[in-house]
Amino acid sequence: MTLSLYSTLGREQRPLRPLKDGVVGIYVCGVTPYDVTHLGHAFSYIQFDALRRYLTRFGYQVRYVQNVTDIDDDMIMVSKQQGGRPIAEIRDENDAIFRADMDRMNALRPTVYPLATEHIDQIIETTQRILANGQGYAVDGDVFFDVASFPRYGRLNGVTLEELGTRDNPEAKDAEKRRGPLDFLLWQRVEPGDPSWESPWGPGRPGWSIECTAMSMTHLGEQIDIHGGGRDLCFPHHENEIAQAESATGLEPFCGTWMHNGMLQLDGVKMSKSLGNLVLARDLMERVEPDHLRLYLLSEHYRTDADYREGVLDGLSGRHDRFTRAAATAPARNEGDVVPDHPLLRKFCEAMDDDLDTPLAIDRLDAAATRVLDGSAEPGEAAALRSVLSVLGFAHAGARGPATGDFDP
Ligand SMILES: [Zn+2]
Repeated sequence: MTLSLYSTLGREQRPLRPLKDGVVGIYVCGVTPYDVTHLGHAFSYIQFDALRRYLTRFGYQVRYVQNVTDIDDDMIMVSKQQGGRPIAEIRDENDAIFRADMDRMNALRPTVYPLATEHIDQIIETTQRILANGQGYAVDGDVFFDVASFPRYGRLNGVTLEELGTRDNPEAKDAEKRRGPLDFLLWQRVEPGDPSWESPWGPGRPGWSIECTAMSMTHLGEQIDIHGGGRDLCFPHHENEIAQAESATGLEPFCGTWMHNGMLQLDGVKMSKSLGNLVLARDLMERVEPDHLRLYLLSEHYRTDADYREGVLDGLSGRHDRFTRAAATAPARNEGDVVPDHPLLRKFCEAMDDDLDTPLAIDRLDAAATRVLDGSAEPGEAAALRSVLSVLGFAHAGARGPATGDFDP
């Protein structure tokens, strides 16, 4: 395999060249567990699970970090709505449901699953490094990043600073204290009664984006190979992450490949809590097998704004059935077992190497499944099919299960 991936930074597809031979560090922005997660989350994490398994299958050692944003405005808001219920309790309840869903969908558990609230020291230290380099300023208990000190700001989004200034920006608080319109909070004073930690600037809590910078640098080092997340995180979150990391370390680039998945739609409208149009993976798994749901999610390219519509799962029943029956005709193997080179494997890799084209890969596997079932398959094709289905994480084909990931959170 020679995997090439589209990077949002630079807007081009290029071969993956890990910083260290044979090792790939991936950081994917995780959930904010203030409420239930929906199918859009599953879409993102199953795509990254397929990427991880693909890299692992071809000998890479993958270190996959996915965080939990357990302190931010939303967590505090929900805690207040629930009569001051402890944030840790809200987090644990929602996170347990999310992890159970991901386990059922056979997503490998992350190598590291860090909580923002367990990285306050690293967040403060990163903020101090930015201040020491003259790229931030403290005002009355708040600390801001000085965007004017970082000329590359805006490059990820590929637009002018003026254009960014017109976008919705949840980190643009305390406008009167800021020197520039895009400056954002690294550390913030809190309202009386809100959770806070001691810091050199007084009691407070982290800004949002600094959490991910501190966690990725703690668990993957100062530069990383792949950073993933939903496209809605490009601004301000990921733009801020780049500014913070590169300012703190002086190393460029912070990340070699920025992968952004599309936003899952429901009948043409972005799925979101505020619009109340959520479909939950958990509900869908009441009526279809988790592998069937995985098949749907991987039948859409990760960069598309896939549109979920009633009946789409039923439309994939035949394909799911063919895969299950065809895989069952091959001798049981485990994911990662070496199968002899086969043209089907090469066809599969050709699709996956082209920016993880899972829809094309699955089409090709479906043609093979049809051949296996009608008796016209090439020698060894059933075994090759089973092997590549397991690389895509299908449990029916013997893919490793979640608990056999590197870490058991
Ligand atoms: Zn993040």
